[in-house]
Amino acid sequence: MNTVGRPTTPNAVASKPATLTGGRGLLQNEPLIFEGDGWGKTGVDLPKPATNGSDLGDLVRKDPIGLPGLSEPEAMRHYVRLSQKNHAIDLAIYPLGSCTMKHNPRLNEKMARLPGFSDIHPLQPQSTVQGALQLMDSLAHWLKTLTGMPAVALSPKAGAHGELCGLMAIRAAHEAKGEHEQRRKVLVPTSAHGTNPATAAFVGYSVVEVAQTDDGRVDVADLAAKLGPDVAAIMVTNPNTCGLFERDILEISRLTHEAGAYFYCDGANFNAIVGRVRPGDLGVDAMHINLHKTFSTPHGGGGPGAGPVVLSEALAPFAPAPWVVSDGDGFKLVEREEDEAEQAFGRLCAFQGQMGMYVRALSYMMSHGSDGLRQVAEDAVLNANYIKARLSDLMSPAFPDGPCMHEALFDDEWLKGTDITTLDFAKAMIDEGFHPMTMYFPLVVHGAMLIEPTETESKAELDRFITAMRALATAALETKDGAGDADRFKGAPFHAPMRRLDETRAARQPVLRWTAPAGSNAAA
Ligand SMILES: *Cc1c(COP(=O)(O)O)cnc(C)c1O
Repeated sequence: MNTVGRPTTPNAVASKPATLTGGRGLLQNEPLIFEGDGWGKTGVDLPKPATNGSDLGDLVRKDPIGLPGLSEPEAMRHYVRLSQKNHAIDLAIYPLGSCTMKHNPRLNEKMARLPGFSDIHPLQPQSTVQGALQLMDSLAHWLKTLTGMPAVALSPKAGAHGELCGLMAIRAAHEAKGEHEQRRKVLVPTSAHGTNPATAAFVGYSVVEVAQTDDGRVDVADLAAKLGPDVAAIMVTNPNTCGLFERDILEISRLTHEAGAYFYCDGANFNAIVGRVRPGDLGVDAMHINLHKTFSTPHGGGGPGAGPVVLSEALAPFAPAPWVVSDGDGFKLVEREEDEAEQAFGRLCAFQGQMGMYVRALSYMMSHGSDGLRQVAEDAVLNANYIKARLSDLMSPAFPDGPCMHEALFDDEWLKGTDITTLDFAKAMIDEGFHPMTMYFPLVVHGAMLIEPTETESKAELDRFITAMRALATAALETKDGAGDADRFKGAPFHAPMRRLDETRAARQPVLRWTAPAGSNAAA
């Protein structure tokens, strides 16, 4: 199947005709690499092999291998064109709330590519990777200092994996006290990220929802009523997914500990408080830190991420292997079961975790310094409040009273009287060259639009975003009572490489395999 010449606009709107080729405004449509006609071509000149003999006998391949042939410029263009179909943080603000899509300093990349970090193998003798172990030790030190917690498990490979680590440590602690059988519940607020209840269920707990107050915080009375000898832990995000600091956090941790349960804090939003608040001082027992959010490193599109978990005194003995120790003679990775602390719950993954992410995160920390990291949090919060202040006359903030933390949350109340939904508005943002914010999350806010600018956006970039948002919001409000141009929203995006897709079907019935058309020599 050749997609050149096939418009990519299945639901083209009459007022905007599809182009003849599927290309759009200086961007050509790009077929799959297997759909080209370059069979038999190669981009490199290989010398003839010295002998023609083969030891493979009957096993020698008789048919062409079916690899596409591309010259160097064709290969280059193929991948550059593909990359242009996607948004990237290097193109513009990426305002996805909860995801913390910040600029990834090139310094991080330079450090991660140093041969002493990038060309090593986890099975190398430890004496030959002392620098890498020292880096892990330094990173652990920074994480413990910034959080005020005594221990850290570095190996979890994402936030969700960190949640698993934290809850396994909590389960191990209850088992050690002989209370595991009686403590079968985990309390999770309604606004929680989906990974929280999923993790609790995965570890075998039943999930009990805790209500939220009208001002977007944990309902402490409801929490207190649900805490008891059958509760293993609470999982609370702070600042929470509404972009608000949990004002009653000290009371929440006091009540939790009084009930004999542990306080798991989802630390994905650490960006907003790093350098200003130490979770250890709030009574947190376990918290994952998404290195790929708070401490930069490229993410989205599948990773890799890293989700180290800091642990309180009570949970530290249960931390999984491996960890780094230094004994004056250098650094050592404690990774064999017989060397593990007696109560450690085991391992979460092979080897030591995401080395490349450790290097990037530590580069970010060291280039900012402790005062700079404090400013990270301050600027992240300032930027979000600037957006909230500049858009609140047109759009409806979900929690109008008081400032927000690092993300500004709007609901769809302001769209009442129009036919436009949060989804339509987000799609129209694409036509203006902006990646949409997070939509319909948190679930507790109707038609949620969660905007997180991060500290790496300048005022000029924020103003550019705000100008586009104000223009769109004005156009949306003009459609009240059937006036204005609702099609601009209902049919959007008009200018993206792909138009509005059936996202549910794409998720439920993904087509992941390319089948060669009959008669083609593409065997791949
Ligand atoms: C991103 C996020 C997670 C999950 O982290 P991953 O690294 O994507 O697994 C959990 N909770 C919150 C609030 C998040 O924003």
